[in-house]
Amino acid sequence: MSSITNLLADLAAGKIKVVDLTQPLGPATPVIDLPPIFAPSPGLTISEISRYDDKGPAWYWNTLTLGEHTGTHFDAPVHWVTGKDLPNNTTDTLDPASFIGPACVIDVRAEVAQDPDFLLSIEGVKAWEAQHGQIPAGAWVLLFTGWASRGNDKAAFLNADAEGPHTPGFHQTTSEFLVKERDVLGVGVETIGTDAGQAGKFNPPFPNHGIMHGAGKYGLASLRNLDQLPPTGALLIAAPLKIVDGSGSPVRVLALAPA
Ligand code: MN
Repeated sequence: MSSITNLLADLAAGKIKVVDLTQPLGPATPVIDLPPIFAPSPGLTISEISRYDDKGPAWYWNTLTLGEHTGTHFDAPVHWVTGKDLPNNTTDTLDPASFIGPACVIDVRAEVAQDPDFLLSIEGVKAWEAQHGQIPAGAWVLLFTGWASRGNDKAAFLNADAEGPHTPGFHQTTSEFLVKERDVLGVGVETIGTDAGQAGKFNPPFPNHGIMHGAGKYGLASLRNLDQLPPTGALLIAAPLKIVDGSGSPVRVLALAPA
């Protein structure tokens, strides 16, 4: 039997579960707030084309308007200026084989509960590896912060004050380590973006975006249900829409994990 035959048999037998890591996508889904000097990315608006009525008696469908980076979404390397000249860096040209990889889930809920500006350090990664093994090349590294429990409440989710948003992320040196020493596929977070809330003030600003995308790596934001994944042993699938010259897209992120 091939491994796919075995996988399908295990799925049918309930030995493997499919975990949906996706936030529901609706008009209330929070989107990132940038300082007003920058152009904002719109959230989702839905307008009905027809719903079994005069405009379409037997069919229902909608028109969507949204920024590419809305809700649970994929960041392609071209999203950041550091990745703009890489080959095959857009949603339509990325290698589809790279949308699938092992998930390494790093639980930092306790640290984030103490400090919403928590940044994962290299030491934190190595402590995780001492317990769970080295992060393999081509892995998705998922930062399990517990942030998804804040739901669709924009104020709680963005957690901003006069200083700007306070949400966790990766220390710049950690992003460099994950790229250079672990050759990850990318990183995924529960928050609105793959950089910490205060990262606009870091030097350089938004270092995780700059480092990951400059190295051709990906980002996943606004993930849910990371509590349903083991630290290792799950397979993650995150395939963006094949938007021509797209910088990212909303995505249905699925994980296969032992039941
Ligand atoms: Mn994004």
